[in-house]
Amino acid sequence: MSSIRCLLKPGKEKPVLAHHPWIFSGALDQIDDGYKPGDLVQVYSSSEEMLGLGFLNPDSQIAVRMLTFGAAEIDESFFRARIRKSLELRKQFVPAGTNSYRLIHSESDFLPGLTVDLYGDYLSVQIHAIGMERWKDVILKILQEEIPLKGIYEKMDAEWRKIEGLKGKPGLLWGAEPPDELEILENGLKFLVDIKHGQKTGFFLDQRENRKLVGEHSRGKKLLNCFSYSAGFSVYGARGGALSTVSVDSSDTALNLASKNLTLNGFSEKDHRCLHTDVFQYLRQGNEPFDFIVLDPPAFCQSKAHVDNASRAYKDVNMIAMKRLSEGGLLFTASCSSFISVDLFQKILFGAAKDTGKNIRILAKTGHPFDHPVNIYFPEGEYLKGFLCRVE
Ligand code: SAH
Repeated sequence: MSSIRCLLKPGKEKPVLAHHPWIFSGALDQIDDGYKPGDLVQVYSSSEEMLGLGFLNPDSQIAVRMLTFGAAEIDESFFRARIRKSLELRKQFVPAGTNSYRLIHSESDFLPGLTVDLYGDYLSVQIHAIGMERWKDVILKILQEEIPLKGIYEKMDAEWRKIEGLKGKPGLLWGAEPPDELEILENGLKFLVDIKHGQKTGFFLDQRENRKLVGEHSRGKKLLNCFSYSAGFSVYGARGGALSTVSVDSSDTALNLASKNLTLNGFSEKDHRCLHTDVFQYLRQGNEPFDFIVLDPPAFCQSKAHVDNASRAYKDVNMIAMKRLSEGGLLFTASCSSFISVDLFQKILFGAAKDTGKNIRILAKTGHPFDHPVNIYFPEGEYLKGFLCRVE
């Protein structure tokens, strides 16, 4: 167990007692001398009660990321037990015809600062806590021993790593380099994933069940997939019997995979177009109506300070999408900003409906799937909101 102790200010033990995994820097009263960022610390309340162990990083706003609430030996077997727990959960819930999903979802799998996605025989790993970085070799060893793999690649979220004071470059950590076009399976559909150059860890695994939902309601419809990335929603729509799909994205690399993904699943380029353009411009300038529109923008809001601006952007894009829908059309609209709560997102949609004079009925409210679980003590981990609406 760590010998470094940190003491909380009076009254600041409450969230820790409620198993919240973050302690903000303002809650710390004192830390023993001689610590380094990334050290394991024992956390004590102001009345000297030992509350648990965590990774210390006084240079970050999140000064401690809790690993345990109580005493424990933090060693290889500790991490192995946690990783096995994550794998067991996935084994129980992974849908048929799927070989790619999130294996470790950071704080929500009790492994703060560690994200691991499985793509067939390859892992895409992200570390965004300096304490977890110290355990990287141990984590890699466990992953290799617990999962049959060909290679492990490290991706880096520059923003998160900067906050934690972490440097380094993305690259191969172990085994073979993943191919640039790795074929994966999701709900029986094939997708090419470029782990090395793709966005995030390579694919937006968190939208898997939402893509399925959209596919199930696409029959006979003209589908517009805005912010399509590699055409995930379009491929599901096409399988679900959409008359045609249009995938719109501003990234060439994403669209290159998008058209390949459509043909890989047997859908012709004639009926399933991919357009390299700005979504806002495309929605505003055209007048061809669609029966189903998917809006899955990147996070417009990266911090609390941006909530107002982001709300306006979400309202704007939803309004222009609503106007492009045929009477009684469907809208699947998502937000992946954790700072935009589900209630706020619904208010934004209310504003967009009112200003366009549309009637909106919510048919389903969705989130992220089982491999992105939400730890009840860590509501910040819930970030994805999706609304399926009928617009008339
Ligand atoms: N729906 C996708 C994931 C979308 S990620 C899936 O299921 O896989 C968001 C995408 O929006 C990225 O591919 C990014 O390139 C694209 N993007 C961001 N801003 C854009 C804009 N203004 N116009 C078009 N595409 C944009």
